[in-house]
Amino acid sequence: MKLAVVGTGYVGLVAAACLAELGHGVTCVDCDAAKIRRLRDGMIPIYEPGLDQLIHTQTSDGRLTFTTDLAEGIRHATVVFIAVGTPQDEDGSADISAVLTAASDIAVAARHDTVVVLKSTVPVGTNAKVHALTRPLSPHAVSVVSNPEFLKQGSAVTDFLRPDRIVIGSDDERATAIMRDVYAPLTASGARLFVMDSASAELSKYAANAMLAVRISFMNEIANVCEAWGADVDEVRRAVAADSRIGSAFLAAGLGYGGSCFPKDVRALQRFSAEKDYDFKLLRAADDVNGQQPQRFLGKLESHFGRSFENRQIALWGLAFKPDTDDMREAPAVTLIDGLLVRDARVRAYDPQAAQVARRLFGERIAIAGDPLDALMGADALVLATEWSEFQRVDPSQMRALMRQPVVFDGRNVFDPAVMEHHGFVYFSVGRGVRSAPAPSVERFAAASHGLNA
Ligand code: NAD
Repeated sequence: MKLAVVGTGYVGLVAAACLAELGHGVTCVDCDAAKIRRLRDGMIPIYEPGLDQLIHTQTSDGRLTFTTDLAEGIRHATVVFIAVGTPQDEDGSADISAVLTAASDIAVAARHDTVVVLKSTVPVGTNAKVHALTRPLSPHAVSVVSNPEFLKQGSAVTDFLRPDRIVIGSDDERATAIMRDVYAPLTASGARLFVMDSASAELSKYAANAMLAVRISFMNEIANVCEAWGADVDEVRRAVAADSRIGSAFLAAGLGYGGSCFPKDVRALQRFSAEKDYDFKLLRAADDVNGQQPQRFLGKLESHFGRSFENRQIALWGLAFKPDTDDMREAPAVTLIDGLLVRDARVRAYDPQAAQVARRLFGERIAIAGDPLDALMGADALVLATEWSEFQRVDPSQMRALMRQPVVFDGRNVFDPAVMEHHGFVYFSVGRGVRSAPAPSVERFAAASHGLNA
C-alpha cells in the first residue's frame, strides 16, 4: 500500500522506515528542509539502534523517500500518518497546533479518499476535532483514525516491528479495514490489534505512560523512605517485583523520568481531566516527586561538598534522558548540570551518543569528554545520570586512579556499593545508604532541596 508519514522525528522516522520494511511504499514529509536534505543524503538525524541500517536498506530498495512538499508526498497515499510533535503548552496542556495544521494541509491537498491517522499523542477529543476541521476542506472522504504509538526510544525499531499491541481508534469500518491491511504483516505474526472508539484509543496512550510514570515516582518515594530508615531499595525491589501481580519493570529507583513523553503526557492528562472537572491528584504527586528527585540528589552533593562547588571539577556520565538514545529533552542530566553550574562547579561530561545535542544546549559552559575515563581526569566527584551499559564495564581501580577525589554519586544505582567501597570510593546512590562516609540526614537533604527550589 502507498503510505505517507508527516513528521520525521523519533516516531515518524521510525514508523516510516518500519512500515517500508513491512513492504509498503512510504513517503516521509517534514517541514524542516535541512532535515529532509540530510535524510536524502543518507544522514540519519537521530540515534536509534538499528534505524540507520533500516533506512539505508529501504531507501536503496526504493520503498522509502523524503520530501518537504506535502501535496507531492501524499499524492498517491491511501493512508497518511501524522507524527508531528505535541509539546507541552504553557498551561501544561498538549499543544496540538502542528497536528491541526498538518491535518488541514492534508485535507486541502488530498486528490482522492484518504485515511488520516493520528499517531502523535493527542488529548481525548482531538480525533473528533480533526474530523470536524477536515470535513469541509475536501470534496473527498477524509477518515480520521487514532493509532497511538507505544514505541520506546532506545528500542523503537524492535518495538514497532514486534509491538505489545496495536491500537486503532475508529468508528469508520472502511478506514478500520484499511488499517488492518497496513498492519497485516505484524498481526499475521502474532501482534495483537485492538479496535475501539477514538476517545478510548487516545486515552489508552496517556494511561499507559501515566501508569509507568507513577510506578517510577512510587519507587523513588520508597527509595527516599529507605534512606530515612536505613533500608536497601534493591532488596525491597527484589521482594516487591517477585509478586506476579506487580512484576519487575519500571521499579528502578533513581533520578526520575525524563524525555519528551512522560513529563508532558502526565501533565496533559491532568489538564484534560481538569477540563471535565476531574482533579487527577495521583499524577500531580507523581510529577512533584519526579521534579524533586534530581534536587534531592544535588542535596547529597551539597551535604558532601558544602553549598559552593567553586574549584570543584565534576565528571558527569550520561546526558541523554535514558540509554540508547541521543535525546536530552527533559533529561535529569540537564537539571543536574544547571544545578552544578549555578553552584560554580566545572562540569566535564561524557555520553556515548548525546555529545552533539549537549554542545547545542550548553555550548562552552560544559566540557565534553571523548570517553568515560577522559571525563574523570582530575575530577572531585563522578555523577552518573544515565545507565548506559558501558559504564558498568569501566574498571573502578582505573576510575579511582584518574580522579582527584574518589567520590561517586550514582543517580541510577549502576554500581555495586560493596565493590565501590572495596575500591576506596565514597559512594552515594539512591535508596541504598552511603558507603565509607557518614549518612547525610533527610533533614539536610530537605533543607538543601528547599533552598534550591526557592
Ligand atoms: P519530534 O519533535 O522528534 O518530531 C516531530 C517532527 O515533526 C519534526 O521533525 C518536525 O519538523 C515535524 N513537523 C512539525 N510540524 C510539521 C508540519 N506541519 N508538517 C511537517 N512536519 C512537521 O517528535 P517525536 O518525539 O517524534 O514525537 C511525535 C509525536 O509522537 C508526539 O506527539 C509524541 O508525544 C508522540 N510519541 C513520541 C514517542 C517518543 O518516544 N518520542 C513515543 C510515542 C509517541
